[in-house]
Amino acid sequence: MTLNLMLECCAAEGGTVSVDGGKLIIAGTPAVLDEWRPLLRSFKAELLALLASDLVLVAQRAAHLIRQHVGQAEAHALALRLKTRDAQHDERRLCLECSHLFDTARAPRCAQWRQAGHGGPQLPSELPVLLQRCKAFRLERSAIALPQFEGDIHSFRRPVPARPAEHLEGVT
Ligand code: SF4
Repeated sequence: MTLNLMLECCAAEGGTVSVDGGKLIIAGTPAVLDEWRPLLRSFKAELLALLASDLVLVAQRAAHLIRQHVGQAEAHALALRLKTRDAQHDERRLCLECSHLFDTARAPRCAQWRQAGHGGPQLPSELPVLLQRCKAFRLERSAIALPQFEGDIHSFRRPVPARPAEHLEGVT
């Protein structure tokens, strides 16, 4: 069983695994904790690395959005929204992830506006930050290793209701 599959199976049973301050945290019902704790413990180091990379991805995406002239707070919020999008296998994209978008510093414009179905190159100012389906979309490579394109290591986690958390600290 791969790490991804392990976390996917755990999530399917209502468990969540996360990292907080370098500690591995599993949340779920007592039954879920009993079932999954031993296996998760045995892969603690690998899981910490995997989940930490998730945080790095969010930070990298936020940095990319800031370079696209998105404000810092909005960029971070958008990066988190992209993470949720990926986890939900949502196929929508941002213009800010598209190689056809340019001039974001002044007024966002699209180099493929005809194919995208717009009346001209200038896009509505709110469009670049909206998730949408666009037939002309092409991934901007500096948009940071979008999981769907790079072989997702993060999309296994699905939102689950909050449950009491149990810290697995000092596990070896
Ligand atoms: S091609 Fe579509 S997704 Fe890309 S910038 Fe133009 S409108 Fe946005």
